[in-house]
Amino acid sequence: THFGYRDVPQADKAKMVGEVFSRVADSYDLMNDVMSAGVHRVWKDHFVDGMGLPAINAASSTGVRVLDVAGGTGDITFRIADALAADGPSARARAEVTVFDINADMLRVGEQRAGARAQLQRPGAPALRWVQGDAETLPFDDSSFDVYSIAFGIRNVTDVPKALREARRVLRPGGRFVCLEFSQVQPRILRALYDEYSFRMIPALGALVANDRESYQYLVESIRKFPAQDAFARWIADAGFKAVSYTNLTFGAVAIHTGFKV
Ligand code: SAM
Repeated sequence: THFGYRDVPQADKAKMVGEVFSRVADSYDLMNDVMSAGVHRVWKDHFVDGMGLPAINAASSTGVRVLDVAGGTGDITFRIADALAADGPSARARAEVTVFDINADMLRVGEQRAGARAQLQRPGAPALRWVQGDAETLPFDDSSFDVYSIAFGIRNVTDVPKALREARRVLRPGGRFVCLEFSQVQPRILRALYDEYSFRMIPALGALVANDRESYQYLVESIRKFPAQDAFARWIADAGFKAVSYTNLTFGAVAIHTGFKV
């Protein structure tokens, strides 16, 4: 049975995304390693390094407040926490990271992982909050975060421009939007190879490792549908962000987009 993602009406997308992530929650971390041969770890390290959190934290009187949207099982959040822990308890106030996701199963796996990480229990470690909800309607006050991050999440959102406007609303002036997402591989010849890999191998790996071909079929189709680098940068600018730019990683297989609220 084929998911037929392209034929799913917008109204049903949210429901389908919910089902996909509930199904994959327990195999999610293993599958990331299998599908990307571990490279997703390098992308995520690079993404979090680029946020410049120790400097932002040092400049903040309250301790930096980070919102990790579509935080899922915590891969980005734990890196953020490590970056801030390295800053040490000398930080004037305790940093706070809010993990936000629409899916209770993904958050459950994330909270279990958090409980197993001793460094999160040490004094000076940032406080973690786990909050369930939709990126399109954030349950947070205006101007309440220094950094909004979203990794491999935005392409799952039904109304992306709405989520981008919400991102801007909850950021304080001077706050930073950072997004890691699959993007368009360049040059064309490499893209052909990559498409061949993703359309054949990823659903097959999903079937083999997670016994779930359909969810991984959805994954590759959602990647194919998402706008390329420049188009997505325009969406971010259209939401009111300034100084929007992006960096490609691994020939554009993924890109990091940033923008500022002024
Ligand atoms: N950021 C994590 C990482 O990099 O490993 C998790 C990424 S996972 C591929 C995508 C996550 O987006 C899932 O946990 C899913 O539940 C979440 N998600 C999908 N739609 C969402 C929405 N509208 N609002 C918030 N989270 C959403």
